[in-house]
Amino acid sequence: MSFSLHEKEDTIVALATPQGVGAIAVIRLSGKDAIHMVNQVFKGKNLEKQASHTIHLGTIRDGDRIIDEVLVSLFIAPKSFTKENVVEISTHGSSYIVNQVIKLLIRHGARPAKPGEFTQRAFLNGQFDLAQAEAVADLIHSDSETSHQAAMNQMRGGFSGEIQKLRAELIHFASMIELELDFTEEDVEFASRDDLRVLVEKLLRVIEQLIASFDLGNVIKNGVPTVIAGKPNAGKSTLLNALLNEEKAIVSDIAGTTRDFIEDEINIGGVIFRFIDTAGLRETTDTIEAIGVSRTQEKMKTASLILYLFDLSDTDMVEINRDINKLENLGVPFLKVANKIDKANPQFINDLKAKHPDTIFISAGQKENLDLLRNRILELVNLDKFRTGNTIVTNIRHYDSLVKTRQSLLDVLTGLDNHITNDFLAMDIRRSLHYLGEITGEITTDDLLANIFSKFCIGK
Ligand code: GDP
Repeated sequence: MSFSLHEKEDTIVALATPQGVGAIAVIRLSGKDAIHMVNQVFKGKNLEKQASHTIHLGTIRDGDRIIDEVLVSLFIAPKSFTKENVVEISTHGSSYIVNQVIKLLIRHGARPAKPGEFTQRAFLNGQFDLAQAEAVADLIHSDSETSHQAAMNQMRGGFSGEIQKLRAELIHFASMIELELDFTEEDVEFASRDDLRVLVEKLLRVIEQLIASFDLGNVIKNGVPTVIAGKPNAGKSTLLNALLNEEKAIVSDIAGTTRDFIEDEINIGGVIFRFIDTAGLRETTDTIEAIGVSRTQEKMKTASLILYLFDLSDTDMVEINRDINKLENLGVPFLKVANKIDKANPQFINDLKAKHPDTIFISAGQKENLDLLRNRILELVNLDKFRTGNTIVTNIRHYDSLVKTRQSLLDVLTGLDNHITNDFLAMDIRRSLHYLGEITGEITTDDLLANIFSKFCIGK
């Protein structure tokens, strides 16, 4: 999907609300002729004579036939999302009406919008930079408090501001060094090499921090990969189902909320936990036993959290100690969860409390102490860093550019160490600038734009 100049002149139309039946549906148009086009099919006030940011009641008509009674909102360029003329038509939420209105507008010269085309226009017209545009997509897809906050923070420019500031400082050095190239005979130094080293080292520290934040960002966006490990019949499926069902019950208690339940994803305190490989765990293999096998070990290492679940009525201390030992060697944070308190021997519970005081005692079957378990899970992943509003990288494309930036900055340092010539030094700095610019969209290619915006839905 690339846009020719003349396509950018088109007036585009799309349904902005979800497909299907709803109380209302919003059809959005953007482009030079948006207001004129709607005015041709609208019976009410003359829309072309109205002020920006006003709403008008009237009917949409195809000749004499009334399609619907609607509310029309006007946003006159440049005071709109796309910085073009934008009209939003709120119709009654029937897909028949929506189709009729869109077809009618197409007959009057509008073109169906491509995925993400509204946001792409907003970007091309300077409404925001690329990182912010991508955050719009993340925001639409965010389904937990934390992923919503990360996207919101990025959309409002938190992330881009930092990058742009660093880039500006580096541009200054690049131009000073390039200036020196014009004075090669005279042996002048406009840019202090010591100052350059200080700046590059400072940049590297910030870049390292952003790169490190990606792990956390990834967790926020995609969920904390979690494994419930334990031998057959420990109660792994029962526990997962109990957590899932309680979440469903909580959510459906809140009137009017709907959420698509993704099997094996659970929202705990605003953080999504993704239970990986649960299918495998439901098979009759002894996962803990299998930790010794390197393939299983690799798989468990991809988890950020392991719930070690054992049956109190069917596990002895020797076995528990052995399992815990293996998990400690694995290096992934884990919780010791003792299941089936309802049928456990009280003496064994006391022994276990003495030996492993951090054990959480639950009954998955009777849904006992699940709140306690949820709290301990949240404590363990500790996402507080995020809540302080630190900048977090959630986008693989940004991560990629940051890693490349780091490499070229390291090249600059090596160059300084080896006293390489100015032209090579300038080249390394320019390369760092290039990768930094890729993040905010100061450097773009058609392919990159097409790739980013095609991930949006139509109407966005
Ligand atoms: P998995 O093989 O680890 O997935 O274990 P399951 O979840 O299939 O549970 C094995 C058996 O233990 C089932 O019959 C469950 O009903 C039972 N079970 C699970 N949790 C509890 C519990 O807290 N108390 C009791 N008494 N039984 C439980």
